[in-house]
Amino acid sequence: MKHSLDILPLKSWIDTGDKPLIIAGPCSAETEEQLVSTAHLLANTGKVNVLRAGIWKPRTRPGEFEGIGSIGLEWLKRAKEETGLLTATEVATAKHVEEALAAGVDILWIGARSTANPFTVQEIADALQGVDVPVLIKNPVNPDLSLWVGALERVNRAGIRKIGAIHRGFSSYEKTAFRNEPMWDLAIQLKTIAPDLPIINDPSHICGNRELIPYITQKALDMDMQGLIIESHIDPSVAWTDAKQQVTPAALADLLDHVSVRRAESNNPAFEDKLAELRQQIDKLDDQIIKQIGDRMKIAEKIGEFKRDNNVTILQVNRWDEIVQKRVQLAKALSISEDFAVKYLELLHNESIRKQNEIMNTNSPAEA
Ligand code: PEP
Ligand code: MN
Repeated sequence: MKHSLDILPLKSWIDTGDKPLIIAGPCSAETEEQLVSTAHLLANTGKVNVLRAGIWKPRTRPGEFEGIGSIGLEWLKRAKEETGLLTATEVATAKHVEEALAAGVDILWIGARSTANPFTVQEIADALQGVDVPVLIKNPVNPDLSLWVGALERVNRAGIRKIGAIHRGFSSYEKTAFRNEPMWDLAIQLKTIAPDLPIINDPSHICGNRELIPYITQKALDMDMQGLIIESHIDPSVAWTDAKQQVTPAALADLLDHVSVRRAESNNPAFEDKLAELRQQIDKLDDQIIKQIGDRMKIAEKIGEFKRDNNVTILQVNRWDEIVQKRVQLAKALSISEDFAVKYLELLHNESIRKQNEIMNTNSPAEA
């Protein structure tokens, strides 16, 4: 997928040294006391760059706490004055943008529900025309990379070059350990098509509970994400929203003390040499694998011709079951997961069938 993003690197708009950007704060601003005292504790850890707080909350069901509204902007301002932390909040309408900017909020983010709606994103983008403020765009609730890229493009076209993405996971019908499935491959695809785009991970909304946060946080850093946005509340047990996933500022500091930030590049020549050698081995094996898949397809085509000329159906279920069973056994013996082996064989089989179908539907030279 191509994109037309014109991005300023994260380092040029916020200096975090060689550490990842850390955004932390409560899911929602609830009271002035809750927000300001949480902000002080976060600032005192010395590990937080930006204070987050939801002022307007997109809720799934009406009647839940829908955010404290504009008054909360005053509390954010006070928290910033007293702690020196930059501030960030979610905007979902043009009016939110205007109010947040008027109150001096430093960074705006677009929430997952808004990103899923191009009308909403466009309204926000129009309100941002001519403004110089960093904007972070959460992935849409559904796993659709184009929708995510489209939202980034809309905001970017309004002239916002200080732009970043937030990976907060995707809704899935199946219940899993996570509130929102991480589907890392989508974040990796985004990183691959837009290497300059900062991607910040949101372990809180991926996990939906405190216990899994360290695991996702470490994984995000290992994937070279450039920052984290983590919900932190002075007393999570009484939080008005997302109580199960918020952590105290002390727990946040402890979490950040225990994750390892590995560098994307090393400056040790011996390491680089060894890595280059191992990568060469991988390249060679990949070439061989592709070549062998090609050879396998050619044989499948021959079988297709043979079946056509003898009027036999393409799909022979018994044969396929036997292939899967035997190969999965081999895969397991080689410590390759069953899940991977089955998926791989399915892909291979679908492609063979597609090719055989093509052949079945062209005449044999004798009939032509
Ligand atoms: C939030 O950050 O509190 C929030 C509502 O997140 P999301 O848009 O990712 O659901
Ligand atoms: Mn939340």
